[in-house]
Amino acid sequence: VIEKGTPTRSVVTTCAYCGVGCSFKAELNGDELVRMVPYKDGKANRGHSCVKGRFAYGYASHKDRILSPMIRDRIDEPWREVSWKEALTFAANRMRGIQEAYGPKSIGVITSSRCTNEETFLVQKLARAVFGNNNTDTCARVCHSPTGYGLGQTFGTSAGTQDFDSVEKTDVVIVIGANPTDGHPVFGSRLKKRLRQGAKLIVIDPRRIDLVRSAHVEASHHLALRPGTNVAVVTALAHVIVTERLYDEAFIRDRCNWDEFQDYAEFVAEERHSPETTQFLTGVPAEELRAAARLFATGGNGAIYYGLGVTEHSQGSTTVMAIANLAMLTGNIGREGVGVNPLRGQNNVQGSCDMGSFPHELPGYRHVKLPEVRAIFEKAWGVTIDPEPGLRIPNMLDAAVDGTFRGLYCQGEDILQSDPDTKHVAAGLAAMDCVIVHDLFLNETANYAHVFLPGSSFLEKDGTFTNAERRINRVRKVMAPKNGYADWEITQMLANAMGAEWSYEHPSEIMAEIAATTPSFANVTYELLEQKGSVQWPCNDANPDGTPLMHVEGFVRGKGRFILTEYVATDEKTGPRFPLLLTTGRILSQYNVGAQTRRTDNVIWHDADRLEVHPHDAEQRGIKEGDWVKLASRSGETTLKAKITDRVSPGVVYTTFHHPDTQANVITTDYSDWATNCPEYKVTAVQVSPSNGP
Ligand code: SF4
Repeated sequence: VIEKGTPTRSVVTTCAYCGVGCSFKAELNGDELVRMVPYKDGKANRGHSCVKGRFAYGYASHKDRILSPMIRDRIDEPWREVSWKEALTFAANRMRGIQEAYGPKSIGVITSSRCTNEETFLVQKLARAVFGNNNTDTCARVCHSPTGYGLGQTFGTSAGTQDFDSVEKTDVVIVIGANPTDGHPVFGSRLKKRLRQGAKLIVIDPRRIDLVRSAHVEASHHLALRPGTNVAVVTALAHVIVTERLYDEAFIRDRCNWDEFQDYAEFVAEERHSPETTQFLTGVPAEELRAAARLFATGGNGAIYYGLGVTEHSQGSTTVMAIANLAMLTGNIGREGVGVNPLRGQNNVQGSCDMGSFPHELPGYRHVKLPEVRAIFEKAWGVTIDPEPGLRIPNMLDAAVDGTFRGLYCQGEDILQSDPDTKHVAAGLAAMDCVIVHDLFLNETANYAHVFLPGSSFLEKDGTFTNAERRINRVRKVMAPKNGYADWEITQMLANAMGAEWSYEHPSEIMAEIAATTPSFANVTYELLEQKGSVQWPCNDANPDGTPLMHVEGFVRGKGRFILTEYVATDEKTGPRFPLLLTTGRILSQYNVGAQTRRTDNVIWHDADRLEVHPHDAEQRGIKEGDWVKLASRSGETTLKAKITDRVSPGVVYTTFHHPDTQANVITTDYSDWATNCPEYKVTAVQVSPSNGP
């Protein structure tokens, strides 16, 4: 039963699944949540929703939720339920003890893109103002950190350049490494509507996603590239545009660094970047590359949307910069209907990055090395901030194995299940003296924890999420926290147990501190959000109503930078033992590793993951539809059922990673993006063979 009872009151809040940020009216009968109704005044969704936001909220009251704090001296001991005071004192004493023995940089935090801006701000503040180091990282490390680097380098800020409404003015859309109809369904529907009205579509993806051909929609071009060759494909498109002089010279002269453009033009014009040369590398026919490039350069307003199929590569940051180059080359920045748009996976990836969760940046994407930036926070917090960047998640784990990093506070993130190289993550966690897991459920990481602090769901707290179009949406408390406290209160209690004197009484006070220290949030208040419903940052004196379109007059960094994007093949090679390439993605009804969606009433959603295999590869291996197969890589192996389909090309296999039994990260490699360490989840050399099942 999904809907029950007659509602007597309602609260408007924001979906906690994907980066579209749909608004919902939570309708209650007394204290019981009856249903979630898409909110017609929600600016990101305008009364629409997908199945997850509409129905998959039952996890908030699932029996698996842990509601009392727990501690244990060693991870091989059973948990003991204790009071909040005892748990927080235990955690604080351990963390301080580690610092006394091993130095101030021996502990750190991991924040979550599922938590609110206010919660995330407090967690990074805990590291910087209480721990006294910059050892703060976020789960965005494993998804969109290359967006931060790539768009920062080229445009000057790490965010999508246009709003969702702007798609209605787009004439040509490139979707690269994203599957909006499954991953960002409400935006996917808006995109399909625009395509039905006649906009043209170029899909760059190894797999035939729904947008390539579905009801009333057919892509003009599907560049079904070999996984790992994004940079070569995008550079080949630029080659055609430059050599056929289809670029927007007036825009480039006015808005970009002309000298850098000339170097770039010379670089992409080299024969090795031509479609005829790169077709052998990428698997995309030269004539398709040429036709797609001509369409994008001459078809009117061009917009590019991308996802984790761009970022989760050893060249993730390079691909983001290649995409930014393509947009500048064609003058597609700074107007309605044009732009570069990372489709953020989780509800608050944008916000967690904005809030200074990375170890090198304070809130608002300002480097910790800059004394004038540190001075703002030092004055606000009454502390001295370490000028040295802290450790990224993989460096924390390496240092843990080496014995120099020994304490971790991990809020809302299951690194054992989500991060690459599961064995290494486990070894790092096992080597620590104090792991504090703050979550709704006893997740896999909690197997290595000494302290478990029960978390609160999005229904139980006030705050804000920032969606993929930089829209700051209110999250409103629908019901009292089942565990007694909202997550921001728990972080505050931990800070105070370690000697701080924080006294926030409501998240609006945390937002006031964010606004006072972060120029792009300067005018954001809860009163403004009540009045306007939502605003898009930058929201400050220069843009009091927020900013739907960025880089309108000039780039945030001044002149746009063309950066030479040299294709470098991944170190992950196919060969006789592992001749196929595995890539991964999502389905509409499930979400990431399924921690929330699997804990809802609707059992039909709990289907297992399948391995998509091309008929040619299946026949060669004697595999039929529904057979169990062994999927093996150099890192490990797992077992799942086969789905025979020509949605994937010969030589490529594909799976989702929603079910814990799939253990996709046992298969993936430990290669990562050269600039940000974002793991290369999208390219793994594998072999597939018949199996009798698990
Ligand atoms: Fe939630 Fe995303 Fe679905 Fe909207 S599209 S209801 S934000 S999961």
